[in-house]
Amino acid sequence: MSIPEKSIRDVGKVYLVGAGPGDPGLLTLRGKFLLERAEVVVYDYLANTKLLKHVHNDAELVYVGKKGGGLHAFTQEGINALLVEHGRAGKMVVRLKGGDPFIFGRGAEEIEELVAAGIPFEVVPGVTSATAAATYAGIPITHRKYTASVAFITGHEDPTKKESNVRWDKLATGAGTIVIFMGIKNLPIIMAKLIENGRDPQTPVAVVRWASTPEQQSVEGTLETITEVVREAGIKPPALVVVGEVVKLRKTIDWYEKRPLFGKRIVVTRTREQASELVALLEEHGADCLEYSTINIEPVADYRVLDRELKDIASCRWVLFTSLNAVTYFFRRLSDLGLDARALAGVKIAVVGRATGDELLKYGIRVDLVPEKFTGEGLAEALIAEGVQGSRILLPRAVKASEVLPEMLTGAGAEVVIAPVYQNVPPTGRKDQLREELEEKKIDMVTFTSSSTVTNFLTMVDAASEEELHRLLDGVAIAAIGPITSKTVTDSQLRVDVQPERYTIPDMVNAIVDHYRQAKGVA
Ligand code: SAH
Repeated sequence: MSIPEKSIRDVGKVYLVGAGPGDPGLLTLRGKFLLERAEVVVYDYLANTKLLKHVHNDAELVYVGKKGGGLHAFTQEGINALLVEHGRAGKMVVRLKGGDPFIFGRGAEEIEELVAAGIPFEVVPGVTSATAAATYAGIPITHRKYTASVAFITGHEDPTKKESNVRWDKLATGAGTIVIFMGIKNLPIIMAKLIENGRDPQTPVAVVRWASTPEQQSVEGTLETITEVVREAGIKPPALVVVGEVVKLRKTIDWYEKRPLFGKRIVVTRTREQASELVALLEEHGADCLEYSTINIEPVADYRVLDRELKDIASCRWVLFTSLNAVTYFFRRLSDLGLDARALAGVKIAVVGRATGDELLKYGIRVDLVPEKFTGEGLAEALIAEGVQGSRILLPRAVKASEVLPEMLTGAGAEVVIAPVYQNVPPTGRKDQLREELEEKKIDMVTFTSSSTVTNFLTMVDAASEEELHRLLDGVAIAAIGPITSKTVTDSQLRVDVQPERYTIPDMVNAIVDHYRQAKGVA
């Protein structure tokens, strides 16, 4: 998607866009549309950086820092000036603000400056943390039985100061549900004010930190007890305080933190291209994924074997695909040669598993054989049962791969032609984050979906000795997709905790969910 042509608008425009409370899925479609077209994006610490994936590669990203100072923090005046400057320069600017820009977001102050400078602007509302934090903690902020009114209050002001804008005396009993932003520092004073002004000290209160993110933490108490509960739980900003009878409904409605993988930090060691399904499924169950690319898939330099075989494909009885990558790179080569799926006319096609078969369907190819057991060995057995004596079999695959399949077929009298179509290359970079998180014991589980992910993971971890490896992985569960991958894990003197019965990504995710359910003692 391209950034609009300058000619359509020579003056810039600044869009104040609500980023939502944290969950990147809570950005509006309008917000996404604008992020995709922005030339400059100005964001701060409440806006989830995952949203930046929507931004064009050429756009300029400006981080305006942490709330309450910090080395690279901008003052509000600094932010205003920055927006004006980029607007004047004719840029399409997105100012990404946590939650909703007009709810305790100082959005209006930024706009006043833009208006003064004659720069056009628009505002896109966002999901405010007021509703999201409550919802993600299982609290509906209104309910016919409990309350007919809600008040959003800032807790930032010192409630004891004389000229306070917040009328705690009227609020205490005037609003059924009271939602307090920025209220952690002044929590004891605010709770006391509410009691002092007539609210029942037993009124339930919930505090939710980093709502709608994997770090969400929520606690519950009453006006009287919550300060102590928050102190004990060590809850720091950003957190939202919800006061009112509706908090009682949490018992029934709480859902977000109850998802089976909530709070689990899981390393996904797949290739970039393939990681998405595993990550999506794990996140669906509440996991916090550290997407880790331990392999880069690259084309090979030399396609001579494949090219030669394609010229005389009729001499082959079977073509076997043992991975998604094999399919992808095989068809890329066909396309480079100006060919398509018709080049495989008259040849039988077999795959190792269903996902590979589904991938082939995208190229218009229906598979002739999928083994019951989704392994190279399973495929070899199924082919041998069909009879392969004297057959020529083409196997497009990685340069380095397990030799079980070709050896079994050759042993049964077939002529196997291995055509390398891609290679696994260990990537560089991002090594430190993995290492650091392992050192800090932040990781709960590492997933492996092939033997090469195991070996490359070990390369990345770069342990000096077996003792060090064990120390780093102590307490970290290991999930492997199937027996071959598991064997590579155990050969490295590590233990496999989870292995699905069927070797597919969805089955692996279900097995991981079961693993944690059992750990929690839920049947
Ligand atoms: N415009 C934002 C609020 C900005 S004020 C909105 O509409 O949500 C900053 C305060 O918002 C924080 O101190 C905290 O009280 C609250 N807040 C923002 N995001 C939050 C989150 N994910 N979880 C809990 N509180 C949050």
